[in-house]
Amino acid sequence: MIEKKVKDTIEKYKLISKKDKVVVAASGGKDSSVVLYLLKNLGYNVSALFIDLGIGNYSKKNRENIIKFCEKEKIKLNIVSFKEEFGYSLCYIRDILKEKDRNMKACTVCGILRRYLLNKKAREMKADKIVTGHNLDDEAQAILMNLFKANTNVSARLGPMVGVVKDKKLIPRIKPLYFVSEEEVKEFSMKKKFPVLYDKCPCVVEAYRNHVRNLLNEYEKKNKGTKENIVLSFLDILPSLRKKYSGELNYCKKCGEPSSGDVCNKCLLMKRLTL
Ligand code: SF4
Ligand SMILES: [Zn+2]
Repeated sequence: MIEKKVKDTIEKYKLISKKDKVVVAASGGKDSSVVLYLLKNLGYNVSALFIDLGIGNYSKKNRENIIKFCEKEKIKLNIVSFKEEFGYSLCYIRDILKEKDRNMKACTVCGILRRYLLNKKAREMKADKIVTGHNLDDEAQAILMNLFKANTNVSARLGPMVGVVKDKKLIPRIKPLYFVSEEEVKEFSMKKKFPVLYDKCPCVVEAYRNHVRNLLNEYEKKNKGTKENIVLSFLDILPSLRKKYSGELNYCKKCGEPSSGDVCNKCLLMKRLTL
């Protein structure tokens, strides 16, 4: 069932071709491990990229798990770390930035730095596509959160293939688990006894997302298909959102990476760290 959903999603949205070199952003968690396994078994040319965030025992365990998983499944694994790339762990960067701005959240810092690193490393690995483990629940939650907060421009960056603007330095990010629910992913991962942590990241602060998650789960229980219907309705309007919000893409004046402004968010963040 889950295999068919992934296969159909890839075909319907033309996410990958058999010639593509695919890099999976592997966190050591259930979603990315499941997608890695499925793509390998569907015959795609996959490798894994693990980013060590440096979140104490949590990152250590994820690192051990992904090494074990890739060895067993015979998947090539590349490892990079925040410490090597930025000089510090995520926790350290978050703590310093929090002293300067109390509203700074670990997930904001993590998202900016991870996106930057993922794109840069995947490009160095000559990837045609970056795969992330986002599932149906993640997408339905993001759509609703953006809707409730009137963040329409942010929604334009959602969808099974991410990225409003096409650019040779920007590797397209795709979500083959787009129509697979969180529950299905968990069941599959448990059935296969994948070595993954089912605990949440200790840095996560997501009061608002939790609220939307509970609300959606409640609706889904009473009206089966709610999550999928939200995503399907969204996909209907996505082309017009993208048309409206596709801005120009520049290259960061400091690091040369793709950026919507003159200087990219990663460089702005790193500058604040030293100010
Ligand atoms: S929960 Fe937040 S800090 Fe933890 S890995 Fe995800 S984005 Fe990063
Ligand atoms: Zn930059």
